[in-house]
Amino acid sequence: MSVVDRARRVLPGGNTRTTLFVPPHPPYAVRGEGAIVTDHTGHQVIDCNNNYTSLIHGHAHPEILGAATEAARSGTAFGLPTASEVALAEHLRDRTGIEQWRFCNSGTEAVLMLLRAARARTGRDLIVRFDGSYHGTGDAVVSPDAPGVARSAPDSVLVLPQHDLEALTAAMREHGDRVAAVLIDLMPNRAGLNPADPAYVTALRELTRQHGALLAVDEVITFRLHEGGLHKQYGLQPDLVSVGKVIGGGFPVGAIGGSADVLSPFVPAPGAVSWGGTFSANPVTMAAGLTALSLFGSHEIAELNRRGDQLRARLRDAGVTVNGSGSLLRLMAPDPTDLWWNLYRRGVLGGTNGLLALSTAMSPVHLDQIADAVTAVLGRGADHRV
Ligand code: PMP
Repeated sequence: MSVVDRARRVLPGGNTRTTLFVPPHPPYAVRGEGAIVTDHTGHQVIDCNNNYTSLIHGHAHPEILGAATEAARSGTAFGLPTASEVALAEHLRDRTGIEQWRFCNSGTEAVLMLLRAARARTGRDLIVRFDGSYHGTGDAVVSPDAPGVARSAPDSVLVLPQHDLEALTAAMREHGDRVAAVLIDLMPNRAGLNPADPAYVTALRELTRQHGALLAVDEVITFRLHEGGLHKQYGLQPDLVSVGKVIGGGFPVGAIGGSADVLSPFVPAPGAVSWGGTFSANPVTMAAGLTALSLFGSHEIAELNRRGDQLRARLRDAGVTVNGSGSLLRLMAPDPTDLWWNLYRRGVLGGTNGLLALSTAMSPVHLDQIADAVTAVLGRGADHRV
């Protein structure tokens, strides 16, 4: 029996992650090495998905694997804290200037923890977020109409249109004293991967301060774009950030960062926020993450962003509509499923919505091949039939 048939018997729809499903079913990955993934049919593709932007150095990077293996040899998880979480928190502090960190296992969990922190710190209930931005799968950050979401979820969430300063100002005027945090992704992938307008971001910071609300920036995807995260590029000082993906070196991870004051509700004491996580801050993830980030300093980030900018310019020249910034690109196509399969057959693995994320494992030849494949599918005069 094929892996596909076996999968459909034991997994609803044949896999665990809705976000990577493409009809009729996605191929199953067998092996990843650097920039290349081999699937269960033996087909090889250049990986521009990179596990939804998380594999900044591609697959099975020797130094990251070495760090993870060495950590694993000394034990993979403990009912005690380890020095490895201290080391990754110190690294994150040094590269962002954000004082304190708290780890978990995914971006979804980081956003949940961030919202809990904001409510606990301010004593307020309301969260403001923006329509079309993805922040994981918590009830508060998905559409209230989505099946399975608690009917009460929207009571404590205000969803505003993207990048609409008038709507934001009006909402803060009316509800500002009840707002615990405004949660923003400065370049929301699902909403089209367009960077926020700097003037809007400045006004947002002022409005939140004025109303005593916290400003929370979701950097789960955008952290890779700047040494301190995309907010640094804006010169923005958020009260809270959520991160994930690249900071785990390819292992499950999430984290929130903030000042000691904002994160004080987590200090164990009577009345404190209680938040566990059996595998949170496990030493394998921490060691892999620290190594991956150490190999991704300002020089490497600038180089990867430059390659992304070059690729975007080349694609635009060829008539392709492409958004994003630096190493993150989003191809805009009428039918994302068609796009996904057309690229895949031509040897490029993207995201199911047209997202492409570059890795340091890609060579100039890989980048040429990516440009050629995308141009063949979406460029001027492309043959969309394949
Ligand atoms: N926030 C943002 C901005 C994301 O893009 C994602 C996932 N792509 C998440 C949160 C959730 O992260 P995870 O999939 O690790 O739970």
